[in-house]
Amino acid sequence: MDCLFCKIAHKDIDSSIVSETENVMVFKDIDPKAPVHLLAIPKQHVESIMEAGKLPGGVLDELFEAIAAVAKDMDLERDGFRVVTNTGKGAGQSVDHLHFHILGKRTFSWPPG
Ligand code: AMP
Ligand code: ZN
Repeated sequence: MDCLFCKIAHKDIDSSIVSETENVMVFKDIDPKAPVHLLAIPKQHVESIMEAGKLPGGVLDELFEAIAAVAKDMDLERDGFRVVTNTGKGAGQSVDHLHFHILGKRTFSWPPG
């Protein structure tokens, strides 16, 4: 399967890794939309949140623990930060491997565009 984030997870393509555990990787987005813009992925390929239930038990816990840990390490909690998963082309998903954007260190509006 030709999947960019699988290649990043397997280190076939370089990325700026921020944290890594057995089943999860957090790396810097190559085209940041905020002063802090990271992507958190399960290393195992699933297309989107619609398939997240196919991940082995515990992987989603590991993923959200990694997101919280990185938010803490980067001091995002005090001012607030945003976690987003675009699902489907209509919502702007461009890479079909489940990923959560972690955005911080700027002001965010609501509702999102
Ligand atoms: P989405 O559009 O929600 O599917 O998010 C995909 C994200 O992947 C975008 O924010 C891109 O900037 C980011 N991206 C694409 N290629 C790379 C790469 N090689 N390394 C890091 N981030 C990437
Ligand atoms: Zn993949």
